[in-house]
Amino acid sequence: MSLVLAVVAVLTVTLLYTLFVRAKDIPAPDPVSPTRHLDERKAAIYENLRDLQFEYRVGKLSDADYAQTKLALQMELGVVVAETERVVTGKAPVPVPIAEAAASAAASQPVAANAAFLCPHCGAEFAEAMKFCGACGKEMA
Ligand SMILES: [Zn+2]
Repeated sequence: MSLVLAVVAVLTVTLLYTLFVRAKDIPAPDPVSPTRHLDERKAAIYENLRDLQFEYRVGKLSDADYAQTKLALQMELGVVVAETERVVTGKAPVPVPIAEAAASAAASQPVAANAAFLCPHCGAEFAEAMKFCGACGKEMA
């Protein structure tokens, strides 16, 4: 009689232990963030920029190398930021908003259609309207 109780008790404890441990040990299913790979890329780019800045400061890089690498990183950052924005907002792929922006810009300001698009932050020029500056990565108006 008491043996049965003991067995039941052991089984119960084992079951509870198993449930408890499993709940703790098995990592919660990763909330699949649609921007996770982008966030990681962005972090990597920022790290590269920091390294670049450091190497330039300690004199490992020429001005030209520094400028070229920095620009490449910033352009990549711009792409990642824009892609993140696109994923987060769930908007249609980039070409559509650009076409709309170009169309509305042309409609409201006929002269501006052929003008270069200037980044309000760094002054970089672009042939077509972009949501984010390819040079500094900031949002363009
Ligand atoms: Zn810019």
